[in-house]
Amino acid sequence: MKPISRRDILSQSVVLGAVVAAGLPLAMAEPPTQKPPQRKVVVAGGHPGDPEYGCGGTIARYTDLGHEVVLLYLNRGEWTDKPAYDPAPVRVAEATKACAILKARPLFAGQIDGKSIVDRAHYDQFHELLKTEQPDVVFTQWPIDNHPDHRAISLLVYESWLRSGRKFALYYYEVSNGEDTVQFNPTHYVDISATEIRKRSACYAHASQSPDRYYALQESVTRMRGIESGHKQAEAYIRLTQSPDFGLPCVT
Ligand SMILES: [Zn+2]
Repeated sequence: MKPISRRDILSQSVVLGAVVAAGLPLAMAEPPTQKPPQRKVVVAGGHPGDPEYGCGGTIARYTDLGHEVVLLYLNRGEWTDKPAYDPAPVRVAEATKACAILKARPLFAGQIDGKSIVDRAHYDQFHELLKTEQPDVVFTQWPIDNHPDHRAISLLVYESWLRSGRKFALYYYEVSNGEDTVQFNPTHYVDISATEIRKRSACYAHASQSPDRYYALQESVTRMRGIESGHKQAEAYIRLTQSPDFGLPCVT
């Protein structure tokens, strides 16, 4: 808390005196509370579940602060090599449930699971979609990753950031280190000790995706990032230094 200076006390006395003199109710003497600007945050991931596993605790902190958060999934988790069973409706329902837990909104970019395409036409299509959202900040997967869909979303976001005139802040996140994300050296951390429980629920909403196995792996990462940053659990990021630095709340 900021110590109260003599100058503060004097200026408050002047305000109070003026209020009493004007016969106004005393409640009006309280200084207006300064609300931080509301940010539009997009968290992009290759599949339903990636944004929740990588950034779920951060997302919960932002939505609790009143910021608008959109989870943008590159595909719906469909398996095109098994046409007899299309899990996409299940994956979409799981993503919708996860977003409700985090107070975020799901959005799908319309590509096919395991068959991501990164070419001129898909750069155009993805940029139109992201532009419509008008984000202040975008979190996306780190591009050095063993899954092609994760690499694809990273490149699509980066191209859109360039086309936007480098207007939004850009952060990279990690998912299933070693198996997926590789060689990730964080520059920033978010303490998720208080929101980890909601992150866990959002990840477990993806019940078809072996959450016992994958959440345990991700939790070992957030505990390690917590040790690095002095918290019980933390999510870690790499900020693209050429992107604007809004001094995001919670990010240290
Ligand atoms: Zn994924």
